[in-house]
Amino acid sequence: MAKIGDLLRAGRTFSFEFFPPKTDDAQLTLGRTIAELEPLHPAFVSVTYGAGGSTRARTRDVVTWVRRETDITPMAHLTCQGHTRAEIAEILQHYRDADVSNIMALGGDVPNDPADTRPSDYKYASELVADVNEFGCFSVGVAAHPEGHPRSPDLATDRRLLADKLRTADFAITQFFFEADHYIRLVDALDALGVNKPVLPGIMPVTNKGQIVRMADMSGTAVPPWLLDRLSSTDDAHEIRKIGVEVATDLCQALLAAGAPGLHFYTLNRSTATREIYANLNLSSAH
Ligand code: FAD
Repeated sequence: MAKIGDLLRAGRTFSFEFFPPKTDDAQLTLGRTIAELEPLHPAFVSVTYGAGGSTRARTRDVVTWVRRETDITPMAHLTCQGHTRAEIAEILQHYRDADVSNIMALGGDVPNDPADTRPSDYKYASELVADVNEFGCFSVGVAAHPEGHPRSPDLATDRRLLADKLRTADFAITQFFFEADHYIRLVDALDALGVNKPVLPGIMPVTNKGQIVRMADMSGTAVPPWLLDRLSSTDDAHEIRKIGVEVATDLCQALLAAGAPGLHFYTLNRSTATREIYANLNLSSAH
């Protein structure tokens, strides 16, 4: 199956992120969303990895299903959090056997459940990257945080550690952000540190004001005052989604003009906003 590192060397990639569904209904919604997005010919889709054991199994199931049942290249997310080296080796063996060639190696969100005390053999994502690389058959992506990771002491340290991590991986995907300058500054900083690997901007179309404020708070993303003002101008859900699509379209245009190697959309398992942005950017006809 295609490796994302090779796809990026061949040209721009447009890709989508999903999370593993928790219920049968959510499973149906995701199936429908993938069917609606498949005609857009994404270069790849990625599936996130949760903290709990059952959601972790569902990531494997969704990734393996996409590989087996569709023509889309899947990427499996994998985290340091709560994993021994032996477990990681077993999961990687499963993906190798299933002909899945792309792994996103992440630190992982800390589990909400204080009773969850599973040991981790890994402290930082860079240690996981090293083990995935040892398998020799995966293209490896890592996370980048344009506004800095919330646990980083300062932006310079964040950039230096990201540069070290990205040197050993094939590409990065960023946390979502709302100002193109955050992305441009990140890429410039990596360049100054001698790292030119592709960095795909992560795009989160706003469809709900409360949800975006919560998610931004957790991930260290600033929601700029101009965006809050626009979102506060209406209570109409349809209008808010329209603003979200317009804002994301403008951001995508600025990022592509700045030379971004592609766009990675956080779909939240829905297709409408992403399809509208695609149409605004004329990407449907380009693929
Ligand atoms: P790391 O690279 O380990 O960085 C975490 C912190 O440690 C940073 O502050 C970094 O500067 C610091 N650090 C790194 N190396 C060192 C070192 N050697 N010494 C000292 N400090 C160091 N979470 C999930 O649980 N599941 C997912 O599927 C998921 N998907 C994501 C996809 C994308 C594109 C992004 C951007 C994030 C995703 N996350 C996911 C969230 C991510 O797991 C969290 O942001 C996590 O807190 C950090 O992950 P990381 O891979 O950047 O970690």
